Amino acid sequence: MPRPYQRCTNCVMDTTDSQITFDQRGVCDHCRTYYAHTLPAWDTGPTGRAELERIVDRIRAEGKGKDFDCIMGMSGGIDSSFLTHIAKAELGLRPLVFHVDAGWNSQQAVNNIERLVDGLGLDLFTQVIDWEEMRDLQLAFFKAGVPHLDVPQDHAFFATMYDFAAKYNIKTILTGANYSTECVRNPTEWMYFATDVRQILDIHRRFGTRPLAQFPLSNVLRHKVWLRYGRGIKVERPLNYVPYMKEAAMDLLVERYGWQRYPQKHFESRFTRFYEGYWLPGKFGYDTRKVQYSSLILTKQMTREDAIERLAHPAYDPATVSQDFEYVATKLGISVTELEGYFRAPNRTYRDYRSQAQTFAIGARVMKWLGLERAGKR
Ligand SMILES: [Zn+2]
Repeated sequence: MPRPYQRCTNCVMDTTDSQITFDQRGVCDHCRTYYAHTLPAWDTGPTGRAELERIVDRIRAEGKGKDFDCIMGMSGGIDSSFLTHIAKAELGLRPLVFHVDAGWNSQQAVNNIERLVDGLGLDLFTQVIDWEEMRDLQLAFFKAGVPHLDVPQDHAFFATMYDFAAKYNIKTILTGANYSTECVRNPTEWMYFATDVRQILDIHRRFGTRPLAQFPLSNVLRHKVWLRYGRGIKVERPLNYVPYMKEAAMDLLVERYGWQRYPQKHFESRFTRFYEGYWLPGKFGYDTRKVQYSSLILTKQMTREDAIERLAHPAYDPATVSQDFEYVATKLGISVTELEGYFRAPNRTYRDYRSQAQTFAIGARVMKWLGLERAGKR
């Protein structure tokens, strides 16, 4: 029997997240995790700043005599753009800015990357993913019927970055991951781990049509264990130590660098815009705005009323749906009819394919036990 609809009384997460639980006051487990674990450990005042200074000192010391002291990924979206500004303008670090071009950059993304990199006098390295392989892997995910269609893109981003850090012996990777805009995480059933290489290979084996010869792949055990402890490559999240308010950050970037705004988080990729704005809510009933808005509600950047009002309207402008359907289909080398067929095909989950889900579950428990992970992903 389907569960009756219920929405959290504190944020806007609801029973479209099938594993959500509520307490007697109707407050969901995302909110409870935030108040119990994330908030108490999150400090953007003097204590956080001092912690960040220690990290920066270490990064500088490790980078002495090298061209760069750290590496950071840049998508052109708000989190990575603001991180670029903080890293150079505020912390005086010498990051190599890394961009992975998976073929779907929006015009704003390209503009924003150029503006930030030029404005701050940084070096940009762009890795272009072999398009035929990318296309084939993305199509395989469509054929698999799973919701996590963004995995090929996400995996390529971070696998390339780890490869680069290892190859050039850069000890620190900066990421724009942060509590301020991401303290509520997409449920695993909505967006399964992009780091699960076994799942990628299984879906590719069943639905792919050409070998993945160039495509960057990284096993989670390699980068979380070997590169971390064997090679000493650490991932830091500077945005968690400084005040980061999304609107104010965007204003600063617009004014100072000529940055361009997006209508929605993650819309810097044309694929992600189509996928999160149209495909996920339309096919699966998963609206990632609920996760994004809930994060902003918890961090006091949006009111719940405002979020509910916005959610009443689709994320996607209906006028552009057919246009984007055609764009995505053409780019993937298939007909609109074929793409529509995948949209109507039965929905599957990550559980329908081989995965490292158990490895991830153990890893998550260890991280929590060691106090290394405060935000809750489930
Ligand atoms: Zn909630």
